[in-house]
Amino acid sequence: MTKIIIQGMRYDEGSSFQQGPGLAPPLIREAFYCKSANLAAENGRPIDTNLLNDKGDFEISDYFEIERTTLKHLEQDAKVLTLGGDHSITFPIIKAYHTKYPKLDILQIDAHSDLYDEFEGDRYSHACPFARIMENGYAARLVQVGIRTLNPHQADQAERFKVEVHQMKDLDLNSIPKFENPLYLSLDLDGIDPSYAPGVSHHEPGGLSSRQVIEIIQNIDADIVGADIVEYNPNRDFQKMTAYVAAKMMKEILAKMMRK
Ligand code: MN
Ligand code: MN
Repeated sequence: MTKIIIQGMRYDEGSSFQQGPGLAPPLIREAFYCKSANLAAENGRPIDTNLLNDKGDFEISDYFEIERTTLKHLEQDAKVLTLGGDHSITFPIIKAYHTKYPKLDILQIDAHSDLYDEFEGDRYSHACPFARIMENGYAARLVQVGIRTLNPHQADQAERFKVEVHQMKDLDLNSIPKFENPLYLSLDLDGIDPSYAPGVSHHEPGGLSSRQVIEIIQNIDADIVGADIVEYNPNRDFQKMTAYVAAKMMKEILAKMMRK
C-alpha cells in the first residue's frame, strides 16, 4: 500500500486578516495522537501508523519552498497530507502535484472560493490560491463546497475557470459529483460552521456541520492522492476544540487515502 507522508507547513504570510495558522501543525498533531481518543476512523479500521511517515513541521520563509518540499516528498512515491498553514499553501502544493498528476481533480471545502485575482496587492494571498491553480491549468476540475461569500468578482472568476461552486444556500450533498481523476482534497476549516470550529481567522456563520464534512469525505469514491487541512488559527480557538475537529477530519481523510 502507498505510504502517506505528513508534512506541516508553518506559514501564514498569506493571511489577509490575522496571523496564527503558522502555529497550527503541532497542535493538530497533538490532538491526533491524544490519548482521549483511539485512532479508529468511522469505517472501523484503526489508522495504520506504519503507513505514515511524519516528516514534521517546516518553517517556511520563502513561499515556493512549499512547492520544493512537497515535490521532494511526492518523489518518494508517497501520498502527501499537509497540515497548514493558511490556504495560500495550496497553490505551491498543487504546483508540485501537477508534475506527477497532470490530470488532477480538486475538491475544496471552504466558506470562501479563494478565487481573487489579487487581494490587497498580493497575488499569493490566501484569498487567491485557486485563481493561480486554475489559470495555470493545474486542475482538470475544481469543485467547491460550503461557499457562502461569493461576490461578483469571484463569481466571474468561477465562470471564467469553470469552477463548480456548491454554495451553502443551495447545499445538497447528493449533488457533489463523482470524480474520474486522482483527487486532491483541500479542507479549509472555515468551511465548517464557527459554532463547531471557532479556531479560524474568518468566522462565517451558516456553514457545514462537522457531520456533513465527515459525510462528504466518506462519500468520496476517487483515489485521494493528496490532501490538506488549513486555516486552523489556535489564537482564536477555545479549549483546542478546533484542533480536535481538524484531528477528526485527519483520521477520516487518512482512512480514505489508505484505501487505495
Ligand atoms: Mn480558503
Ligand atoms: Mn476560507
